[in-house]
Amino acid sequence: MIVSPRLDVVPSPGFAYAGSRIERAAARRGDEVALAALANDANARCYVVAGDLVVMRRQGEELDPLFSPAEARTLGDVRETVFLGLLADAPRFGIAFDAEAAEPLRGRADLKITDLRTIAVQGIVAAEHLPPLAEAKAVIGWHARHRFCPNCGAPTVPVQGGWRRDCPACKAEHFPRTDPVVIMLVIAGERCVLGRSPRFPQTMWSALAGFAEPGESIEEAVRREVLEEVGLACARVGYFGSQPWPFPSSLMIGCHAEALSEEIVIDRSEIEEARWFDRDELGLMLARKHPQGLATPPPIAIAHHLILDFVENGRQVLG
Ligand SMILES: [Zn+2]
Repeated sequence: MIVSPRLDVVPSPGFAYAGSRIERAAARRGDEVALAALANDANARCYVVAGDLVVMRRQGEELDPLFSPAEARTLGDVRETVFLGLLADAPRFGIAFDAEAAEPLRGRADLKITDLRTIAVQGIVAAEHLPPLAEAKAVIGWHARHRFCPNCGAPTVPVQGGWRRDCPACKAEHFPRTDPVVIMLVIAGERCVLGRSPRFPQTMWSALAGFAEPGESIEEAVRREVLEEVGLACARVGYFGSQPWPFPSSLMIGCHAEALSEEIVIDRSEIEEARWFDRDELGLMLARKHPQGLATPPPIAIAHHLILDFVENGRQVLG
């Protein structure tokens, strides 16, 4: 017997895109008859993704990202359908259109089309929609980039409710990928290191981050990235929390790390600037009251919460 997680008693991490209330019901994915019945269920609803953009319906001042399957099909040619799971027995799907399908929809007064980052930052849909939208966007984006078998080059076909692509030629099975990214706040005493990527807005500073590499633990990835980016050796690494980041398919793994030295040597090929910040300055940045206008990432990002935890608890964050 499969026992569903008691989602009502699981603590919510409070990060955008995390804390899904959907039960993924993976056991149904391989049952074509069950999937067809779920798609025809009167309570079935779809999130619609066109390229990288999300299609929503205007309802007065509000935006509703859910469409019935029939409504979704009137919006364009469905390229992919992904079974996202069940929300209290109501089936949820992700529907994919090609990016070009968004163009004719832009002129419609009853619809709004925008990217998922903007949706989260501006809070323009109810927060409960962000995790399933992230799930839909990440899997749909994977389909778009994995149409051919990496083993033999033949076209692949979606199966398992959109959770696998099979190669008819060499029989290889391909699964959606998630790319682990370590994001870490480096701490020494009452100070921590923030850096700036050339991609950031001019006044924004954030925690250091980088992709974990094959054959590397989270702790090893943290220590390597910190050493590469700012020349600091780290000892203890403490896990903080994680956040799906579907741009296109990352999992942000948040950590605090204890620096063994304080002299920063910046790798300019990776970051533009990095320096130490004390807790008072960080507090001003979080509150958007810094005298030079310096700021930390918005609350949708796990970096914000890593920094907030340090401002509130100091070096205790490392235990
Ligand atoms: Zn193949």
